[in-house]
Amino acid sequence: IPRMSRGLPIKQRIPGVDKILLVASGKGGVGKSTVSVNLAASLNTLGKRVGLLDADIFGPSVPKLLNLSGEPRLNSQGKLLPLENYGIESMSMGYLVSPENPVVWRGLMVMKALQQLLFEVQWSNIDYLIIDMPPGTGDTQLTISQQLVVDGAVIVSTPQDIALIDAVKGIAMFEKVNIPILGLVQNMSFFCCPNCGHESHIFGSDGVLKEAKRKNFTVLGSIPLNEDICIQSDIGKPIVLAKPDSPASISYLDIAKKII
Ligand code: ADP
Repeated sequence: IPRMSRGLPIKQRIPGVDKILLVASGKGGVGKSTVSVNLAASLNTLGKRVGLLDADIFGPSVPKLLNLSGEPRLNSQGKLLPLENYGIESMSMGYLVSPENPVVWRGLMVMKALQQLLFEVQWSNIDYLIIDMPPGTGDTQLTISQQLVVDGAVIVSTPQDIALIDAVKGIAMFEKVNIPILGLVQNMSFFCCPNCGHESHIFGSDGVLKEAKRKNFTVLGSIPLNEDICIQSDIGKPIVLAKPDSPASISYLDIAKKII
């Protein structure tokens, strides 16, 4: 049965974009935005043209992670032109509102802003658009999964049980709307002591790996808890670009190779 006759919106592609990948997580603070930006940088390193769309209207983090600010220009058709750094195009609510003013909006305005971010941006024929999703399973997730032809979703979780339970909810939602789950990324999976090399599994060991096995999900990779990842995020230059040979960078690159 055609989608329209079932009352569902027709799924659209985004002009100037070949493939759309979502990076999602069940809850906040698990490293989803950090994975998004480092995956974008990795894909770029692998020769792909990449864009990064920050779909977190209330807590945009892409401007800081890519060290970008300022208002986007408009093209002659009134479409927003992405801001670019390190060869990665990006669009974020953070470019459209001043960083000091928190967005205090009703749902309808949020959805209007999201529509603009999704369909009113002129990407320049990129191979991959990475969408950094807000955490959880709310309106934004529903809108994106109902309105966009999405090529795959990457789910980020820490090994902690609580994060996992939420991540599993997120997976169930994407499955319901027929978005292929490319796999899970276990973030902050272990801490490697820079002095003695000892590995500590601070957030429990391999929770994501076990859950993935039980549910038959692919694990795309594990990212260590690493000070440099955090430092580079704060500087606004992803570790993959700043320290490409570090083990942490290689773990992001390996994930990118698997999803290409
Ligand atoms: P989310 O997008 O899930 O809310 P972020 O990507 O913003 O999470 O990450 C939350 C915090 O954790 C940030 O300060 C980030 O620099 C840090 N972080 C993320 N992943 C790692 C990691 N593997 N090692 C160390 N710090 C990390």
